[in-house]
Amino acid sequence: MAVTTVARATREGDGGRRQELAEGGDAGRRVQGVVTGLILFGPLAGTVVAIVSLFGRGVDALDLVLGVAFYMVSGHGVTAGFHRLLAHRGYVARRWTRIALCVAGSLAFEGSPLSWVALHRRHHAYTDVEGDPHSPHLHTGGRWPRLRGTMHAHAGWLLKAPEADIERWAPDLAKDRDITTISRLFPLLCVVSLGAPALLGWAISGTLAGAVGGFVWGGLVRVFVLQQATFAVNSACHLWGTRPFVTRSRDRSTNLAVLCIVSMGESWHNAHHANPRWARHGVDRRQIDSTARLIRILQRFGLASEVQWPSKDGVEAKRRRAGAATEPSPVG
Ligand SMILES: [Zn+2]
Ligand SMILES: [Zn+2]
Repeated sequence: MAVTTVARATREGDGGRRQELAEGGDAGRRVQGVVTGLILFGPLAGTVVAIVSLFGRGVDALDLVLGVAFYMVSGHGVTAGFHRLLAHRGYVARRWTRIALCVAGSLAFEGSPLSWVALHRRHHAYTDVEGDPHSPHLHTGGRWPRLRGTMHAHAGWLLKAPEADIERWAPDLAKDRDITTISRLFPLLCVVSLGAPALLGWAISGTLAGAVGGFVWGGLVRVFVLQQATFAVNSACHLWGTRPFVTRSRDRSTNLAVLCIVSMGESWHNAHHANPRWARHGVDRRQIDSTARLIRILQRFGLASEVQWPSKDGVEAKRRRAGAATEPSPVG
């Protein structure tokens, strides 16, 4: 999964998407780096505040319900909306379902749908070779290249404000009015993402403490944990775990079972890289994939169609066997 910056999305909001691609420069990148730092460390600060506040007020059931509910809504917006629907066309969704998923994903503080998809498609095109925005395997210099690579893949790459070349990687979505409108509204949706749990906390409890609890747990802590889950798919799921499926030769994606619940099925990442169009990433028995479940429910209600469910033969054809050849990388 990919994450991009609010700064970049804000410039999309100014109607300067094309300009954005032409502009750049060190100063602009520095500003973007600072804003990205705020996005990354703001939720972290909120989490610290929440932990400290445990000693004073504690966390109540409403805080936890809001945290889990907003986690599921914004997280599945990213996994089912940005990732499996937009980036890989794993299924087709009815218009308002598509809009709802993309609005939900925009609440995750992971960038607008346009920039998220552009960076993610680039990751698949250059997986673990030069050009991959967040591979942990490209740091060879220094004393601890593996540690540096891991930190870069986890969150360090964001501080470098990577280019989300939308014209190149997401030209189909750049022509889509719904997606461009949602992308333009991304800064507003970030405000909603933090404001809505606070408002709900106040409305349900009728107290200011309820509003603060909703803001901290349903907003900041939830964003922080969701970001870490997303970052872990970029870092840990290219470093540790199993590789039951054949991918391109330099591709080091892995299946990491321990993350399957918090990542909503995205940590079956080796299966995903074996065939990115599969709408289910947990393709083997008992592999939890809540995103696939959501897509199945949407399909039952007629809201999703043309779902690219992995067939038994398709999965077996991709399964790694002793001595099986890998597919060549397009580059490197
Ligand atoms: Zn990957
Ligand atoms: Zn993908």
